[in-house]
Amino acid sequence: MTDEGESLFIKPVLKQELDFYNTIKKETSNENSLLKSNAENRGVLPLNEWIPKYIGSMSKTSNVSKEDLEKMGELANAPMQLNNENKNCISEPQYIVLENLLNGYKTPNVMDIKLGRILYDDSASIDKKNRLIKVSSETTSGSLGFRICGMKLANQGESNYNLFRSSEFCYNNTNTYISVNKTFGRRLKTPVEIRDSLNLFFSNHLMGEAYTTNLLKMFNKRIEALIDTLENTKSKFISSSILLIFESNIDRIKQHGLDDELIDSDYDIISYLEESCDVDQAMEIEGEMIDIEDIKGGISLSKLKLVDFSHAVIGKNTNTGVDSNTIDGLKSLNDVLLQLIKAI
Ligand code: ADP
Ligand code: MN
Repeated sequence: MTDEGESLFIKPVLKQELDFYNTIKKETSNENSLLKSNAENRGVLPLNEWIPKYIGSMSKTSNVSKEDLEKMGELANAPMQLNNENKNCISEPQYIVLENLLNGYKTPNVMDIKLGRILYDDSASIDKKNRLIKVSSETTSGSLGFRICGMKLANQGESNYNLFRSSEFCYNNTNTYISVNKTFGRRLKTPVEIRDSLNLFFSNHLMGEAYTTNLLKMFNKRIEALIDTLENTKSKFISSSILLIFESNIDRIKQHGLDDELIDSDYDIISYLEESCDVDQAMEIEGEMIDIEDIKGGISLSKLKLVDFSHAVIGKNTNTGVDSNTIDGLKSLNDVLLQLIKAI
């Protein structure tokens, strides 16, 4: 779900994911945080840079304004405490409010890649555990340590999508988008099939090879930087995903130029724009007239984010140390990107 302005993304969560975001929030504002400890000095990005901005949580979505949600952000712990104190009450379903990662994009393309060979944690029932062992062994989760879970592609013409069987994708009402469901990624077996799929994804635009090359190189850098972060963070991310997102709207790409940041500042830029102006085309900052289009031009063309923390833990709650299950998946995905870059 999104709010009316589509700047927020709201999803139902279980307690563990809510706890995860609350821990991240607490640690981000803590000077001596586990997320930052000596990693920052060596230029390692803290984990919070890789996940969507967390605004807060709530029990229901009706009649809540953005201001309310932002106020709630400061009280993000409150709803859970309430539920904990009233163990006998049936708790209402919880929702988290995150930044909408697609806000600011005109024609986004998204790939969801689930990381890790091991897809279950200790809390899984025997049945669930066996089912997930089977899924892993039959898919690239087991062989490569990651699996394509889904894709949303801007429709560039039917002939581009021969890789997909008809049961594996559908068009939206206006035929502008293609959604590829999880059966596609589950069918893939070989590194070559994965390479072809990633190639299709990163070529899904009309900007020519230079843009594809740029995207491949940017995502290669991002994956390496994320590995660096995870190698310096006590964490365990069972069944989490990375989202690869890029713009394919030609006007936005041309306005932006091909160079892009490792980590976007989209949430800050958009919040700033929302606060400072509604309809004006230009505004005055420290005596200078700034064109709003120039500020909008700072919104990223592509980004990589870690999402889906329903089985994730960080810091104090883990006895585990570093999460090699997730890191190995990222390394093997990076190998595929490097092959694609080499083949250019
Ligand atoms: P689930 O537990 O349902 O798998 P996820 O957190 O994986 O939930 O999210 C499901 C999908 O929703 C993702 O594949 C992605 O396309 C989209 N999504 C998740 N978080 C965001 C976000 N903050 N902004 C925009 N889209 C998101
Ligand atoms: Mn998911």
